[in-house]
Amino acid sequence: MLGTDLIGKALEVLKARPLCDRCLGRLFAGLGYGWSNLERGAALKKVIVMSYHERIREGDEGALREFGEVAGNIGAHASSLYRLLFDNELEVRECSLCGGRLDGFIEEVAVRGSKLLSLYNISRFVVGVRVPRGLLELEESIALQHGLRYWESIRSEIRREVGKAIQSRFGLKVDFEDPEAMLVVSYPDLSLEVVISSLYIRGRYWKVGRMISQAYWPTVGGARYYSIEQALYGILEVLGGESVVLHASGREDVDARMLGSGRPVIVEVKAPRVRRPDLGLLERVVRESSGGLVMVKLEGLARRRDVKAYKEEVAVRSKVYRALVAVDGGVSPEDLRMLELLNGVTVLQRTPKRVLHRRRDMVRSRKLYEVKCRLIAGPLVECLIRASGGLYVKELVNGDDGRTKPSFTEVLGRRAECLELDVLYVEEHPALQPPTQQSQESRPQQG
Ligand SMILES: [Zn+2]
Repeated sequence: MLGTDLIGKALEVLKARPLCDRCLGRLFAGLGYGWSNLERGAALKKVIVMSYHERIREGDEGALREFGEVAGNIGAHASSLYRLLFDNELEVRECSLCGGRLDGFIEEVAVRGSKLLSLYNISRFVVGVRVPRGLLELEESIALQHGLRYWESIRSEIRREVGKAIQSRFGLKVDFEDPEAMLVVSYPDLSLEVVISSLYIRGRYWKVGRMISQAYWPTVGGARYYSIEQALYGILEVLGGESVVLHASGREDVDARMLGSGRPVIVEVKAPRVRRPDLGLLERVVRESSGGLVMVKLEGLARRRDVKAYKEEVAVRSKVYRALVAVDGGVSPEDLRMLELLNGVTVLQRTPKRVLHRRRDMVRSRKLYEVKCRLIAGPLVECLIRASGGLYVKELVNGDDGRTKPSFTEVLGRRAECLELDVLYVEEHPALQPPTQQSQESRPQQG
């Protein structure tokens, strides 16, 4: 008969241990749709009580005795029939999984959690749940022992029910894609914690001065150089965050400027109190706090998953550099023609000696698309160099004792040295382009 196995299994479980409606229903969570586990548990228990009543009315003495024993594990749904049959009050046993606390727990967490989230100005959130390992193991062993296949864990029930309650009653939104914070709930001790998600802002930076590092460079006596990250600290004061991290597509040398198109970056602000920043204000704060040495253009908000694309080496297709080069013994027009013969060559570079302490020694090949040179005076040449991302330009010039081939030094047969370097243009991968305005506007209007 339809349902016999299901009811039989539920009864088998209840004979073994007392369970509240919610904890019984959870063991059958994958059956039926659009109900809470509370409703599932109550439905199963009512059908079980009705089946006993049917057999008892037909004079089954064994059923009467069995009902007397199991009624305490079933709880409130059995109490009226128990009183009718035994003329006595039923002693309801406490749920062996949650002690009858789960309903109240979910209710209280929803109320306190929504207040806490509002305090932090959070409107999109996810719920994280900590449950003692012993409880999770007990649940699993019950499911295994009774051959149950459609159960879910108390952790996933709390996560869903708390999220649902906060969303439906307090107007905040559960958002797995782009949460502003995670509400971390500990069961059963009711401690709550809000873990604020980082804020990601995409944009570009310009480094107008030299001797500025990209990341904060700590030494015993303070920072080695002023850094872009330090220039961004002003953002923290405006947004009330804990720290700021720069995710950039590559970096230039400390002594090289970043001009022209700027370098694409994502600025990560950890644990901000403000989530809808005035980007223009942040740009001004960076410019003023760095005395104009560092500038940013902030284009909009990004997501955590965008960071990876920005940091990958393929993110940058090519770069244009301006190099001021000095050549031993001066430069002739013939020398300039020799240098421009490098157009289109592939440069093989062993890891430069100056970065060997932090980079693996290997040979990599980079494309040199174009070299244009202009004599300035005596030994000085200004060169515009367009190359694939990751080419070490200083070594392209000086040859790094033969570790870079070909090089300016090799081609000219005299020592060439890069005195000044600027990055003028960063051609980024299309994946880094922000979504078009059109796709944002074409969303259907909510009426
Ligand atoms: Zn329970």
